[in-house]
Parts: sequence; structure tokens; C-alpha cells
Amino acid sequence: MHTLKKKTDILVAGAGIAGCAAAQELQDKEADYLLVEKNAEPGGLTRSISIGEAHFDYTGHYLHLAKFKSPAELPYAKQNNQDWRLIKRRSSVYMDGKLVPSPLQYNLYYVPGTKRERCITGFRNRPKIEKPSSFKEYLLSGFGHDICECFLLPYNEKIMACSLDKLSIDSVTRFFPAPDPEMIEKGYAREGANNDTGYNASFWYPARQGIGLLASGLASGLNSIQTCCPIEKIDISSKKVYTPLGEILYNRMLISLPLKRLCELTGDPYLLGLASALRHTRVFCLNLLVRCPAPECLGDSQWIYIPDKEMPFYRIGIYSHISSEMNPRDVSALYVETSVPDDQPLPVMTVLLDEIFLHLDRLGWVKREDCITISANWIGFAYVLFDHHRNINVNKIMDILKSHDIYPIGRYGLWDYISMEDTIISGIETARKFI
Ligand SMILES: Cc1cc2nc3c(=O)[nH]c(=O)nc-3n(C[C@H](O)[C@H](O)[C@H](O)COP(=O)(O)OP(=O)(O)OC[C@H]3O[C@@H](n4cnc5c(N)ncnc54)[C@H](O)[C@@H]3O)c2cc1C
Repeated sequence: MHTLKKKTDILVAGAGIAGCAAAQELQDKEADYLLVEKNAEPGGLTRSISIGEAHFDYTGHYLHLAKFKSPAELPYAKQNNQDWRLIKRRSSVYMDGKLVPSPLQYNLYYVPGTKRERCITGFRNRPKIEKPSSFKEYLLSGFGHDICECFLLPYNEKIMACSLDKLSIDSVTRFFPAPDPEMIEKGYAREGANNDTGYNASFWYPARQGIGLLASGLASGLNSIQTCCPIEKIDISSKKVYTPLGEILYNRMLISLPLKRLCELTGDPYLLGLASALRHTRVFCLNLLVRCPAPECLGDSQWIYIPDKEMPFYRIGIYSHISSEMNPRDVSALYVETSVPDDQPLPVMTVLLDEIFLHLDRLGWVKREDCITISANWIGFAYVLFDHHRNINVNKIMDILKSHDIYPIGRYGLWDYISMEDTIISGIETARKFI
């Protein structure tokens, strides 16, 4: 589209999978809409990237379906199941030089040294806390001191970039199911990795390309989309947004920009005050194409959790162990993720890279000189923190926005911790209410 539409009934802001799904629903029902996106292409975090012969995702993304049976059933995604594979999870935790199958709490048999005994004893003597008041208490009362100390606390504190006693029990959604004592005992007593539990025991991934396949399906066929159009200001009273391409008047807005950012764009002092208390992490994702196959010490793990606080990354993923066709066969493709709190300055990129490569080299996982492609992405809003203010502030913000006909959608609009499937659903269901 070359001339900016100056007026629309429904403005859809942000063309990630939430915005694209919402726009598809509006187009299907013949509503007057305009979808605007700051980047040159839609897809948001669910894009894939090609650099020369290297193919990566923006960061590792796996499709976990709970409500739909297969990618082909996802509304408006235009997917064919033959283009996807249903894959069993093979993830691990790095501990004292070994890979322990994940979930660690159900695979204690593999925990190295004396930690194995300590973990089960700690579990059997776990403190009874009737109503845990924080994520930390929930973990301690569910799994006991030693499983927490070895893995659950340091790992989750690394990914959330904060102490877990600052996070409320609402952090514990379906992504952290309640412990199963019988399985913990079984996993301690017997060999044989127990990989079948948790929300992500299996997942879908494209057979030959990256997760961007899903985003392209959702974006295809949209006939009212304006890319390279960042919203720079929102006037909630006169229902107008300002972009470098011009102003756009709207009656109602569906918006997937991060809620905190949305409040900042309004300039409204009350919204700004509420939004200032919203906390989140930022993630640095380093994508690497390496000239040799992944080293044997990584086993066949698809991703590895790194609880050790000395190491500057919380997870590494091995694309080549998920899809052998995404990149040439004689090379390997990996990603490394580092979390940074929102209230600290961003680390200097060269320093962070040196530190990451130092540790990857020490571990024997990747040598910098073997990398054919090194590509870095900063994700400004990665994990929303469910601290003790989150619910009150989000509810107040939502009420005000609703009274101005603004309806947030998607993982960051809703300021939530939701999957791609739920993100797509949030876009479609909110759009449906408009029609
Ligand atoms: C590290 C990490 C790993 C993840 N792994 C998984 C996984 O394995 N499986 C899974 O199901 N989910 C995963 N997720 C979650 C998944 O990324 C989200 O659910 C999904 O991408 C959210 O889509 P969205 O459309 O809501 O937001 P986004 O993808 O963030 O889309 C928002 C869009 O708004 C645009 N935008 C921003 N500002 C402006 C502006 N001012 N003007 C116009 N446009 C703007 C952006 O460019 C973007 O296109 C992961 C998330 C992270 C951070």
C-alpha cells in the first residue's frame, strides 16, 4: 500500500501474529480496518531470518497446541500439516558438566554426585506452606529446598532476571504445573528419561523452514496493511495516532504493542504512572551458524537450560536438532539467550559477546572462530513479570483504555505470559467482539 489510509473504523496496531490474526477476522467479516506495523514486514517475534545460507528464528519458537489439534486447524494460518512435524521434546539441564534430562524434577536419577540424594531428601522433607505467597514459596513447598537450590531457583531467577520472592503466585500458570510427587519418586528411583510431562512435552515445528512459516500464513492475503509505519504518539481523546507517514483517525483500536509502551505513547500522566510499575525482562538472542555439526557432548538435546549464574546465558537451543532441513547438513545452527532486567542499562554488546563466547568455548560447545554467521537480536519486551503490582495496575489500565475504545491483544498487549496459540486466539476473539 502506498498512500496511507487517513481514517479507519478499526485500527489494528502491530502486525505480529496477534495483529495479523485480528486483521484476518475483521477482513473476513468485511469490517473497515487498517493494520499498521513499524517493521518492513509483518510477523513480530515469530519471524524467521535468513542471512546468506543461514536460517534462524528471531529466537527459538516452538508451536505448542492446547486448543487446536494441529497447525492446519489454526484459524487463518493457512497451514498444511505435511509442512510441519510433531516433535517430542528432548531438553536438558546443564549441571556440573553433565546433561540431566528435563524436567529435572522428574529425572532425579540423572542428577550428578551427592546432589541426587540431597534433592530427594529435600523433596521428602519439603516445607508445608498452605498458601504460598510468592513464586519462590510455591517452588520450595512443591519441590523442596535442594531441587530448588540446584535448578529451579537459579534458572528461573536467570530467565526472569529478578528474585523469585518478588514474583506473585500468578506467575504459576499452566507453564509451571503443580508437582507430581509420585513422578518425582519414580524419576529418582529408575533409569529411563521421563520426557513426557509439562505443557511442552511435544510441539510442532515446520519441516523445512523456520517458525516464520506460521507468521507468513497469518499475514498472507491481508489487503489493508501498512508496513514501515511506527506509531509514535496516540491521542486517546481525539482517537488519532501519529506516524511518520501521517496521522490516522480511528473509531476503535486493537493493539498488540506492549502495554507499557502503549501507555507511554498516550502521554497520559495517569496511564504513565500505572505503566511505570509494570516490569519485564529483555532478552538478547544470539543466533549462530557453525561450520561443523553440534558437538557430541550436547547429545541430541533440542535446548539446554543453564542454571549456573556464572554463565551469561540461561538457555541455548540447537535448531539443527529440531529441523535437519532448515540449514545445510554439514553445519549446525544454534541460539543462545541472555536475560536482562528492564531497570538496568543494556550491557555493551562487544563485552557481552566476548563473555558468551568465552563460556561457550570453555564448555566445548562452540568456538567463535568456527562461526560462519553471528546474528544478534534484542527483544525489548520478552517476559512480563507477575510481580505483586501487576494485576492491580493492568486492570486499571485496561479499564481506562476500554473507555477510550482501545483493546489490547496478544502476549504483550495483555501483559501476560501466553503462547503463540493463545496469542492468535486473543486477536481473533477480540476482533470478533467488534463485529
Ligand atoms: C524468548 C522467547 C521465546 C518464546 N518462545 C515461544 C515458544 O517456544 N512457543 C510459543 O508459543 N511462544 C513463545 N514465545 C511467545 C511468542 O513470541 C509470543 O506469544 C508471540 O510472538 C506474541 O505475538 P504478538 O503478536 O502478541 O506480539 P509481537 O510478536 O511482539 O508483535 C507486535 C508487533 O507490533 C509491532 N510494533 C511494536 N511497536 C510498534 C509501533 N510503535 N507501531 C507499529 N507497530 C509496532 C512489532 O514490530 C510487532 O510486529 C516466546 C517469547 C519469547 C520472548
